[in-house]
Amino acid sequence: MNLPLNKSGGRGRPSLNLRFSLPPGNAGVSPGQARITPNFPVPIVRPPVQPILTPENLSSIGKLIIGPSQVYDFTSKDLTDEGEIGRGAFGTVNRMRHNDSGKQMAVKRIRSTVEEKEQRQLLMDLDVVMRSNDCPYIVQFYGALFWEGDCWICMELMSTSLDKFYRFVYKRLNSVIPEEILGKIAVATVEALNYLKETLQIIHRDVKPSNILIDRFGNIKLCDFGISGQLVNSIARTQDAGCKPYMAPERIDTNQSRDGYDVRSDVWSLGITMIELATGKFPYPKWNSVFDQLTQVVKGDPPTLHNSDDRFFSDGFLTFVNTCLIKDTERRPKYGRLIQLPFLIHMVQRQVNLSQYFCSILDNMTEADFRGGSEDT
Ligand code: ATP
Ligand code: MG
Repeated sequence: MNLPLNKSGGRGRPSLNLRFSLPPGNAGVSPGQARITPNFPVPIVRPPVQPILTPENLSSIGKLIIGPSQVYDFTSKDLTDEGEIGRGAFGTVNRMRHNDSGKQMAVKRIRSTVEEKEQRQLLMDLDVVMRSNDCPYIVQFYGALFWEGDCWICMELMSTSLDKFYRFVYKRLNSVIPEEILGKIAVATVEALNYLKETLQIIHRDVKPSNILIDRFGNIKLCDFGISGQLVNSIARTQDAGCKPYMAPERIDTNQSRDGYDVRSDVWSLGITMIELATGKFPYPKWNSVFDQLTQVVKGDPPTLHNSDDRFFSDGFLTFVNTCLIKDTERRPKYGRLIQLPFLIHMVQRQVNLSQYFCSILDNMTEADFRGGSEDT
């Protein structure tokens, strides 16, 4: 699809400001002046600045930073397991309670093959992430430690992830996720990705429905970046890369890849994610082999979202999704140009009661639906 895209500046600027604001009505305001604001109050909590890791504080003891005045040393024994809430390709996620504070959290345990030196580096990196919890669209990290060959990553407990949510909506309720909800998911994810890139210098690399979490308050938050992403990448590097169906063509066909990882590969994954959430189906057929995957993604046409007999989307939404899936990386926009698309500008200011919608679905999900399986295809 050939879509006209503005050539905006912003390249090479230290920070790309997507926090723009539109007066009600949107009249006479250029896209570049729009402001993304959450439609819920978000307290900004900055943890106190102190080293998380010290020489005598080896990696089996972690620092748990729950709030500005709630900082604890902790080991795995300070957490009470309240049961599994999910399982991924690299480990399990359990609901756990921190005994001293009573705080409930999600604890992701990833089998770690990394050596102690690298463990320290990863915990140092986490330090950066934990200091930067002023984005309402990313899951808050509380702390991490290495224990008996696993890395334990403690984070904010959310209600569920969008993979389980959409499967329940489309397959169990035989319903659809409304476009206005999809729009808010798109805004939150672009904001989160841009924040990671501009503030933390992190490129996500694993954008997909299971890494976008929601809660009953109407929050939409991205997870699995930083330490979690790095651990998974270090494992992936030593094993067969396996089926990565959200991956952009340029990531699969290394001949096409330029040096380093470009945010536009995450934009592609966002496009795939949006089609999946909008239709209830992964846009590619199931692959039999990595070769089939390479052929289809690299050589085939990009997936596109279009209207069907039973589903109508606005032109703006179709344009947004199909722009994320422009196959030529050079023509695919980065976040600065993406957020200038009329659909996102409109969705930024649109009032949507996300809490009410999420609760109406979550209330009907059973324990089994919440545990679910992590089916990527
Ligand atoms: P993959 O391993 O292929 O990346 P995944 O993202 O589903 O798949 P995990 O990241 O291990 O795997 O997560 C497993 C499941 O745990 C998720 O699908 C999600 O439903 C749940 N989950 C993860 N983090 C949280 C959290 N902070 N709060 C609530 N549920 C969570
Ligand atoms: Mg995940």
